[in-house]
Amino acid sequence: MVPDEKKRVFVALLSISLMVVAGVAGVSWYLFRSGSEVGRWAWFAVIILLSGFLVYAAAGIVSLLVSLISHQNISILSRARERVAFAFLPLALRLGALLGIERDRIRASFIEVNNQLVRQRQERVRPQELLILAPVCLQEAECPRKVTNDIRQCRRCGRCSVGGLLELADAYGVHAAIATGGTKARQLLQDLRPEVVIAIACERDLVSGLQDSRQILVRGITNQRPHGPCFNTQVDLEKVKAALEASLLP
Ligand code: SF4
Repeated sequence: MVPDEKKRVFVALLSISLMVVAGVAGVSWYLFRSGSEVGRWAWFAVIILLSGFLVYAAAGIVSLLVSLISHQNISILSRARERVAFAFLPLALRLGALLGIERDRIRASFIEVNNQLVRQRQERVRPQELLILAPVCLQEAECPRKVTNDIRQCRRCGRCSVGGLLELADAYGVHAAIATGGTKARQLLQDLRPEVVIAIACERDLVSGLQDSRQILVRGITNQRPHGPCFNTQVDLEKVKAALEASLLP
């Protein structure tokens, strides 16, 4: 099965990395074979250490590629796969910059990859263990309601997506909150201790949140920005509803 367009960037960059890993292993082997006696022993020690790391990294990359392309989960390698995905992200961003790929495109690809890995874990939780976390830029800029203190201050007037999120939170009995930034988001996670978070944000903030909260299952949904970044943004409520239904126990 061919990975879809969004995931393709990450899959391609992962494949290049696998080739780099194989290249490093090959060069190490060549140096080991051609050096002096002392050099050979020194290289032997280095190669043993490097080999362990490279085998682990390669197993993680292969497991991730299998997971993304075939949707098959190699459960014994799931930890290596997730570690590799997160460890690989900074490298993917640098490699992407060299290849002229926009950072947000790589981040969006990573968010899709993360969401697929979360789906493959097939973990479902009770409503009180789930939090919908949205950014403050979702609120209509002229609205005077203090939804950042308490999202239930929203009157659900329909001028922005906050009312719709609140409707969904009530319908499914889950928590919902608005975060003004990373500190507030971390505070909410600490207070509510959710098992699953449906996080809405721009690509950059979502990736940063995913990196900060790896012990929690986070499904990321990127916001829509018809008026530019951080101003009167919107979210596709159908995507939020689908994420809720995929996350909650029947
Ligand atoms: S839906 Fe809620 S947050 Fe949005 S403008 Fe209306 S009252 Fe304000």
